[in-house]
Amino acid sequence: MRSLLLPGALFATLAAAAPQDSRVPGGIAVLSFPGLPKTEVQALYQGKPVFIDEDRSGARRFIVGIPLAATPGAAGVLVVNARTGESLDVVAFAIQDKKYPEQHITLPADSKHVSPGAEELARYGREAAEQQAVYRIFSEGGKPWPDFIMPTPGEANASFGRKRFFNGEARAPHLGMDIAAPEGQVIVAPAEGVVAQTGDYFFNGRTVMIDHGQGLVSMLCHMQEIRVKAGDKLKQGDIVGLVGKTGRATGPHLHWTVSLNDARIDPLLVLPASAQP
Ligand SMILES: [Zn+2]
Repeated sequence: MRSLLLPGALFATLAAAAPQDSRVPGGIAVLSFPGLPKTEVQALYQGKPVFIDEDRSGARRFIVGIPLAATPGAAGVLVVNARTGESLDVVAFAIQDKKYPEQHITLPADSKHVSPGAEELARYGREAAEQQAVYRIFSEGGKPWPDFIMPTPGEANASFGRKRFFNGEARAPHLGMDIAAPEGQVIVAPAEGVVAQTGDYFFNGRTVMIDHGQGLVSMLCHMQEIRVKAGDKLKQGDIVGLVGKTGRATGPHLHWTVSLNDARIDPLLVLPASAQP
């Protein structure tokens, strides 16, 4: 109730504080420059173009996705003249360390998802490359950072970044949010965008990838049914499919990955506090 004592406009700003500035591996650095002249600049982090917009006060912002594999310590964004490519500045920021929990899972050793054969590994390689290509799309257009909602209601544990071990063997960390939901429940676009890719993948099952612009991408996995096709323009809340358990899933749930400048980041950080599970 205390927040009701704040002036309405200020409360609205606090409640909508997304994306959240969290400079850790798997997080987001929101770098604001109130005085930066509005010249045509491009910002690069680890050689990849960065999301640029303006905050509510009109200040230029760079919104940088920090990969889970990033080393804590000094980091920098290179600012270049968008027309000439000339280097203008380096914006320094620091990445803090963050420890993510471990998860040990025991699965039947003969399960094809635990010990994939050569054919399955080849298939996985092709599919990973296909998804990688979408993460590297950088569609211009100068649109501001979009608002996000949960793509489907349900309980979401803090599953992002979990270090996973299958039968004692270290595997790739968990790069998204798992939302427990019944099979057949509607999944919607968490923010406006364009369907960049759909597929039926070995690990991810039936999957939809949405390009929200400027290197910001959502991937929604394990669907029972896909209801969109590549090229479809989506508004926030448009139906994209139904919750399922296709691919490597022990039960029905939605896996939601958010990628920014080709770094998979914690989806909680793009949700305003009011929209968090
Ligand atoms: Zn998952």
